[in-house]
Amino acid sequence: MQNSNVNNDPTYSAAQAAHHNKTKQVDQQTPKAKLTEQQVLIVGGGHVGLSFALLLAHHGIASTLLEKNRYPEIGPENDRTRSHYLDSRNTALSRRTVQIYQEIGLWPELQSHACRIDAVQISEQGSFGKAQLNKAEEQVESFGQVMENAWLGRKLLLAVQNQPLITIIDNAEVITINQQTDGVTVTFNYYDGEEGEQQLQGSVLVACDGRDSNVRQLLNIGISTYDYQQTAIVGVVETDQPHNHVAIERFSPAGPLAVLPLTDPEGDGNDDYQTGFRRSVVWVCPNGEEQQYLEDDAHFLATLQQAFGTRAGTFTAAGRRGAYPLTRVLAQSQVDGRCVIMGNAAHTLHPVAGQGFNLCMRDAHVLAQMMSAQVLKGADLGDSQLLKRYEKARQTDQKRVIRFCDAVVHGFTHPNPVIKLARNVALVAFDKLPNIKPLIANYAMGLKS
Ligand SMILES: Cc1cc2nc3c(=O)[nH]c(=O)nc-3n(C[C@H](O)[C@H](O)[C@H](O)COP(=O)(O)OP(=O)(O)OC[C@H]3O[C@@H](n4cnc5c(N)ncnc54)[C@H](O)[C@@H]3O)c2cc1C
Repeated sequence: MQNSNVNNDPTYSAAQAAHHNKTKQVDQQTPKAKLTEQQVLIVGGGHVGLSFALLLAHHGIASTLLEKNRYPEIGPENDRTRSHYLDSRNTALSRRTVQIYQEIGLWPELQSHACRIDAVQISEQGSFGKAQLNKAEEQVESFGQVMENAWLGRKLLLAVQNQPLITIIDNAEVITINQQTDGVTVTFNYYDGEEGEQQLQGSVLVACDGRDSNVRQLLNIGISTYDYQQTAIVGVVETDQPHNHVAIERFSPAGPLAVLPLTDPEGDGNDDYQTGFRRSVVWVCPNGEEQQYLEDDAHFLATLQQAFGTRAGTFTAAGRRGAYPLTRVLAQSQVDGRCVIMGNAAHTLHPVAGQGFNLCMRDAHVLAQMMSAQVLKGADLGDSQLLKRYEKARQTDQKRVIRFCDAVVHGFTHPNPVIKLARNVALVAFDKLPNIKPLIANYAMGLKS
């Protein structure tokens, strides 16, 4: 199952791999050879596609990953390059996601840029209810870790490039899918110097091609959508008080707001500014209000301060912000014949509770495990019964997380005073009653499904 075409040099880039593999996939035209090798085709090399390829490789399963965009040239020597320390985008990784990266041996590579969450505070502006989760009370090492997306992406890509069982073809956009009884063939536009259509065969196709998934459309899988009429503003701010590893979820009339602790960019504590004062902000506002928050630093910081009070100290600086219009997109089916829809292509959620990527990682982990068991039986990886079993196995966790995210969004943004009182009572109850906190904490950490 070794893929001899992929170089082990850590500086070997995805672009080189793509060039290299252009030759390789011409060699792979014989469907029989592919089927005997039990090749998995992954379409979309975002964080989910890259992670799934690594999970498969951990089980000794070879995959070819097709990514529409060209990956940047990266190597260890470029790890420290970044534009400005306040300009990062970040993801809160649940404890379960951290465990999964530990399981495949990637966590030591990631952890220098991971910031522990030791406590979570939840409160609402202008209300009495508040709740706090502490790691000591819940007897956990942490509630999760916050990491820069750029760092996570870079480390995932390097790991994939160094993994002989994974072939990357970037600059490749999948345009058709053809399922046969014994395999699946994708046709993709390959943009490398001269444009051209190419084909690849595999036993099974896993689509991780994002919210607007082309694969999902090619398979005629319908979607249900819900437009929240909200936009998430994301960015990094600096405060005059250290974060002390506390994540703060604050509900204000302007919208829900999450302020998460961040490590310093180099992760070595020797930067030219102090460690522990950088925080990641996800602020959800009604559509149409985002422009003022994006363009005007002073307005952004002042409104943030007003919504937040002094629980984080004074907000002293803000980096560039990005805006994400929020729509929930759910695929009506996640399996079609030999194809599986995964990641945002399967479920794109509201980011308020930081659950989307973590849910995708649990999906990916389960499918890789099921495929591993299938390989050990010498059975077909694209067996539709296997894939349907996967879809069923993931239903409970997926439905729970979707409901949880929506309950947080709708429950905390409803202006009705009776509902506002009810949610404050609920927050107080949550803070005081035994047994509720560990349950919710486990859900949030991704440890219970
Ligand atoms: C503001 C915000 C904050 C968030 N914060 C958190 C958080 O704290 N914790 C958390 O768990 N989740 C969070 N999420 C959710 C998380 O970002 C997503 O769940 C995750 O990025 C999904 O990754 P993906 O790989 O499925 O999709 P994408 O990142 O969209 O990747 C899809 C990939 O497929 C490629 N592609 C597309 N079409 C084709 C094609 N035809 N052929 C080949 N390749 C193709 C694209 O180029 C892309 O690389 C947040 C989301 C938002 C919007």
